[in-house]
Amino acid sequence: METIPIHEWIKNFTNPKHPLIIAGPCSAESEEQMLTTAKELMEIEKTINVFRCGIWKPRTRPNTFEGVGEIGLKWLKTVKEETNMLTTTEVANASHVELALNYDVDILWIGARTTANPFSVQEIADALKGTDKPVMVKNPINADLALWIGAFERLNNSGLNKLMAIHRGFSSYEKTKYRNTPNWNIPIELKRKYPHLPILCDPSHIAGTRDLIQPVVQKALDLNFNGVMVETHYDPSVALSDAAQQVTPIALNGILKATELRSPSVEDKEFESTIEDLRAKIDRIDHELIEALNQRMNIVKNIGEEKLKKSVQPLQIERMNMLLENRIQAAEDLGLNTTYIKKLYELIHTESIRVQTDIMRNKKD
Ligand code: PEP
Ligand code: MN
Repeated sequence: METIPIHEWIKNFTNPKHPLIIAGPCSAESEEQMLTTAKELMEIEKTINVFRCGIWKPRTRPNTFEGVGEIGLKWLKTVKEETNMLTTTEVANASHVELALNYDVDILWIGARTTANPFSVQEIADALKGTDKPVMVKNPINADLALWIGAFERLNNSGLNKLMAIHRGFSSYEKTKYRNTPNWNIPIELKRKYPHLPILCDPSHIAGTRDLIQPVVQKALDLNFNGVMVETHYDPSVALSDAAQQVTPIALNGILKATELRSPSVEDKEFESTIEDLRAKIDRIDHELIEALNQRMNIVKNIGEEKLKKSVQPLQIERMNMLLENRIQAAEDLGLNTTYIKKLYELIHTESIRVQTDIMRNKKD
């Protein structure tokens, strides 16, 4: 995938050590709301590079506020004229693209629900052909890396190469503390495959509530994300959408000030040699772990052979429960995270059952 570095197309993003910051309301509501929010954002100590707002809102249920439509683009243009910020809005179809181009919005973004639909992404890519509009692509609502990559490929095939990814979490049926649960492995994998593709984090849609935003920003920047997009409203209590997760410009300043900017590496011989020693220890332990897992699996196979002789089923629920309980207790005694050990042992046990089931199937054939 061909991409152009962000510093070449976000002209007010000049400090490569500083994260790119996008802020602005979830939805455009009125010219006054947009201008008040934008002016307050210009007054805070931290620099905001891009002003965001949704003009067409993909709401889960009908009969809720679905955005102000075209008039909001006029307000967005006024924000651009009256501040140093670039502007961005969400597009979900060809007519949104046409209007956003007419009103000279600087950057477009494709929302999570749209990324999940290849027909819509293709329609947007076709509508943008021949332009060099920057486009940010949010992850699809479901944790599917290929679908996310597919959206970039469709845009790239239309000649667009000012591209950026946004991790906004994934929806899950299970209730978690997040509105959209982050799965950091997926953007990390995206970065591994496309090292030049910048990635932002949208902590607002991950968190769903104001209090969780700062730790998510910190996590994303620790993982070397290029910046964040935070929903910001001059008075979140009157916001027409996503009120619980929006923050005031001053609160955003506080969040950014509370966030530590750690560097990916450092030129320090002593630090490097300490890390190298510790990593060598980890490598040794990992080899021992794999060796232990191999020995464990050999015993699992022996048990499988014995069960086969007596025609006993591979899975004994009481044994599994007992094993999990016992290992979780041992982990707790050592102060290890029990959810982690539970997941690990479920994986180990599932693999043991699979191997024993195979032994039985092969003997039958
Ligand atoms: C938004 O950014 O306002 C939005 C609708 O986000 P998402 O597509 O991530 O739900
Ligand atoms: Mn929102």
